[in-house]
Amino acid sequence: MTHQHRYKTILLFGAPGSGKGTQGKILGAIPGFFHSSTGDIFRSLDLQSPTGRTVWEFVSKGKLVPDGLTINIWKQYLQGMELINQFHSETEIIVLDGLPRNVEQAKILEDTLDVLKVIHLVADQAKMVERLRRRALKENRVDDATDQVISRRFDVYQKETKPVLEYYPEEKVVTIDAAQSQMRVLSEIIGVLVPLKEMHDGH
Ligand code: AMP
Repeated sequence: MTHQHRYKTILLFGAPGSGKGTQGKILGAIPGFFHSSTGDIFRSLDLQSPTGRTVWEFVSKGKLVPDGLTINIWKQYLQGMELINQFHSETEIIVLDGLPRNVEQAKILEDTLDVLKVIHLVADQAKMVERLRRRALKENRVDDATDQVISRRFDVYQKETKPVLEYYPEEKVVTIDAAQSQMRVLSEIIGVLVPLKEMHDGH
């Protein structure tokens, strides 16, 4: 893929439980935006398939799925969405949730993504752990099933994912307090996206 054809992308960034998925789903419903979450894609894989089983081995332990496999699956997903007319790469901005999850993935995706902004959702860890525990009960998620897995997910975030923030130029990173109400967080994100979208559409 040439540089002219890189996907215009907003990265949703934050620790587990910071609300990336919730906000991403809402933003993806706005015309001109397409939400894609690697966590959601992984959870929807067929557990009977070799790929589904391999991915589950990592997800269920709170570990990162290997980089090559992650990016391969995500690209296939995106191509599938484009094929069935759910995603229009020429006109839509991707709201990317959960990718890149380490610096290596950010480097691999350099040729694929044109990162317009990085939205960094920040909240106190105790609050995020509480959210994950509630969600595990409600949604039956293997990746948040035990405190041990939750704690591994936070370790991975600190050691592997957080350095991604330094990979992107400082002026692209916007920090938002994720402890505010969901509406307030949404409103602040939208405040960042409106000028970007207007510029993208030539308004
Ligand atoms: P999430 O729903 O974003 O919290 O992701 C759930 C789990 O999926 C993570 O704990 C990882 O095991 C896996 N995962 C999601 N995104 C990635 C990624 N970009 N690279 C590797 N593993 C990922």
